Amino acid sequence: MAQSQPKDPERHASYLPTEKRSTKPFHPTPMLDQLETGPWPSFVTGLKRLAHNNNMMVDLLGQLEHSYKTRLGYWKGGTVSVFGYGGGIIPRFSEVADKFPESKEFHTLRVQPPAGNHYTTKILRRLSDSWNKYGSGLIAFHGQTGNIMFIGATTENTQRFFDEINEYGFDLGGAGPCVRTAQSCVGSARCEQSNCNEHRIHRTLVNDFIDDMHRPALPYKFKFKVSGCPNDCVNSIQRSDFAVIGTWRDDMQVDQAEVKAFVAGKGRKYVIDNVVARCPTKALSLNDDDTLAVDNRNCVRCMHCINVMTRALKPGKDKGVTILIGGKRTLKIGDTFGTVVVPFMKLDTDADYEKLKKLAHNVIDFWAENGLEHERCGEMIERIGLVNFLEGIGLEVDPNMIVHPRTGSYVRMDGWDAEVERLKQAKTG
Ligand code: SF4
Repeated sequence: MAQSQPKDPERHASYLPTEKRSTKPFHPTPMLDQLETGPWPSFVTGLKRLAHNNNMMVDLLGQLEHSYKTRLGYWKGGTVSVFGYGGGIIPRFSEVADKFPESKEFHTLRVQPPAGNHYTTKILRRLSDSWNKYGSGLIAFHGQTGNIMFIGATTENTQRFFDEINEYGFDLGGAGPCVRTAQSCVGSARCEQSNCNEHRIHRTLVNDFIDDMHRPALPYKFKFKVSGCPNDCVNSIQRSDFAVIGTWRDDMQVDQAEVKAFVAGKGRKYVIDNVVARCPTKALSLNDDDTLAVDNRNCVRCMHCINVMTRALKPGKDKGVTILIGGKRTLKIGDTFGTVVVPFMKLDTDADYEKLKKLAHNVIDFWAENGLEHERCGEMIERIGLVNFLEGIGLEVDPNMIVHPRTGSYVRMDGWDAEVERLKQAKTG
């Protein structure tokens, strides 16, 4: 096969270091080279850059090319851990170690990121330096669950790298049937829509379940995710067993002068077509004087109007969180969204945080006892029924609980108003 050329050889060359520190000659990689010919920077270029620095990446590229040629994968698992831990590392042993000995062990360490992914450049450099010392140099910020993925270390160096980063405050995340690394959105430090202290919630939950993260003993994985508002930037509804989402229960804040300015700038038609008509519960109307009327009782906090008119509209002032249980991606019963089990909860005082911890313990303990092996919490709820689950974790049924977010409550309330009227009349009459 003819050697393929990158589309922009100049830019491509600028990715590669001039000095080669690896002592092994590169393997020919015609198939991988082809992947660099597209318009976007290729991961192959990144791997080649790292291969200038160490022999492990030279052989890793050789094995990858071999895999592409034979259309087979050559990694197998095993058991690798650091002292005192039962998880956090994904072991990878090569089945073609005779051909590519330098990458015969290529383990991945999952490391917990800081809450909200707030790093300083200094700490990023420090992590990078530690990894260049003990690993392949290949890092992914961040994996699907939110971990920093340090990809490619020998069994021996796994412990050394962990010891070094642990010294300056980093810890391994979860891998296997355990509480997994949590994730939280950027939060109130950078986002005006925040309704809760995302990072305190994140740290509270993770610190409380750290043993369950490091020593896998649950039916399967369990994930916490925290979003500060219903925009849900960390996809907690879809991707976590226990989603905490900031919300408010009073009226949203409306600055009518800003509404008028927005209407003046965009026109009434734009506002009606793009804000009023898109409210899922028809809770908005534009008055003749270009002010906005909000039917707050029917607002389901979808955030659409607030996202469009950020200056004019804001979440209310009585803030708290909604908790949803059971979201996950495909497994036995297909994708599930979280179910609202706590429609609103204040999270201001230490006592509120204790309540949150208690709820999380109730959920995990109940699932640990009743979940089948390899069964996520949402699947267990589907199997045993929501009523049994709520009874198991000690929550009273509330009409504001929602099975499918943004569709309907599972406690039917039609006819309730007529019933109230009937009771009133019975009293007076
Ligand atoms: Fe309607 Fe959503 Fe705005 Fe509430 S937040 S008023 S539901 S568009």
